Amino acid sequence: MPPDPAQSDASQPDSGQPNASQREAPDLVQLDAAAPAADPLPPLFGLDTAALSARMVQAGEPAWRGRQLAEALYRQQVAELDEITTLPKALRTRLDAEGWRVGRPAIAQVFQSVDGTERYLVQAEGAGSETVETVWMPEGDNGESGDGTDADQPQAPGSTDPVQRATICVSSQIGCAVNCQFCLTAKLGLQRNLTAGEIAGQVVAVFARHGVQVGRDRINLVFMGMGEPFLNYANFSAAVRLLVTEAGLSPQRMTVSTSGIVPGIELFAQEPVEFRPKLAISLNAPNDEVRSELMPINRKWPIEAVIEAVRRVQLRPRERITFEYVLLGGVTDRPVHAREVARLVRRTGLPAKVNLIAWNPGPGIAYSMPTSSDVEAFKATLAAAGIPAYLRRPRGRDIYAACGQLKRTIEG
Ligand code: SAH
Ligand code: SF4
Repeated sequence: MPPDPAQSDASQPDSGQPNASQREAPDLVQLDAAAPAADPLPPLFGLDTAALSARMVQAGEPAWRGRQLAEALYRQQVAELDEITTLPKALRTRLDAEGWRVGRPAIAQVFQSVDGTERYLVQAEGAGSETVETVWMPEGDNGESGDGTDADQPQAPGSTDPVQRATICVSSQIGCAVNCQFCLTAKLGLQRNLTAGEIAGQVVAVFARHGVQVGRDRINLVFMGMGEPFLNYANFSAAVRLLVTEAGLSPQRMTVSTSGIVPGIELFAQEPVEFRPKLAISLNAPNDEVRSELMPINRKWPIEAVIEAVRRVQLRPRERITFEYVLLGGVTDRPVHAREVARLVRRTGLPAKVNLIAWNPGPGIAYSMPTSSDVEAFKATLAAAGIPAYLRRPRGRDIYAACGQLKRTIEG
């Protein structure tokens, strides 16, 4: 059932919220970035061409078999060894007998929204019943507008195939440790980090489902699913490399969103531009006081510290930093908040835009949705102050696929 706004806990924005002293900044220990377990034969999916070549040599094959494997895994999107027809049948059989496997995460369940959005539970290979969430949004959600991306530009001439346009929302962890008060994923706590193969595998599994052809189709990725990518930095960054180098995606069509993990932003700022997605910061409040209430992480890294780290990112020509701002009825959506956000963003001096997201309700979270007139007024105030502001379309609310609703809910 769709969460009915009229029946959400709309009337009591403050009730049920622990007070500041009850809330603690989360434990931000970076978990082990390596793939789990000392498996002598880890899945092939997740390895790059060099590592696949090394494995082929280990198996007594020429190194160029690694290139064939990479092509099959990331471009042809095969899920089984036996589908890799570029390898001789006898070799496929032998590899299989030796225990090699593709091991790409598999789509275990699909929820379809009336608006075309699909939410998937994706099963990590060999990880018991754990699933993560990935979302497919045909035509995107307007989140890419105005950030200097090439997303809005027309398709190169030549192909007569129908072009698919979509945004895929990718998870980086199972659950999340950051504990933002308005977010359903936070309720899970952190279960574990995803490996690079599990992060990139969500994308390739969805590509296979929709027959996506990189180069023809206009696909944007947003690392905005479950989890905080910058608390799983090594795996996030390795996944971006796989997607760029092996699957052929452009980092300019990827956006990573962080709640403001300063050491992660500092690492991100050092990435070579060919492996650096665009950056979105979940601002969500007009000042430190409100932000610390909503996002306890702000006590550790307050707004100014986040902005200072963001300044180290060398932006591409026309690229903008995105500030995401969740509008909570009565809490962050007042005209005074809009003016404060405009001042704050202007003061940074950064080329920036603001993505407004009307809060999506979830069970057990006592905030209220903003009214559409308040949302429009907020946007107009930012625009009048010269700050480009866009409203994210809520996608798949009826299947709990919208921002902050990802909690492995099995209600369709
Ligand atoms: N952990 C990262 C990325 C995942 S959350 C981050 O916080 O940035 C992606 C976006 O969804 C964030 O901007 C977050 O503020 C927003 N969000 C979380 N819960 C939400 C909700 N219930 N309604 C609308 N947006 C929400
Ligand atoms: Fe984690 Fe992002 Fe949700 Fe905050 S908003 S709890 S950082 S997923």
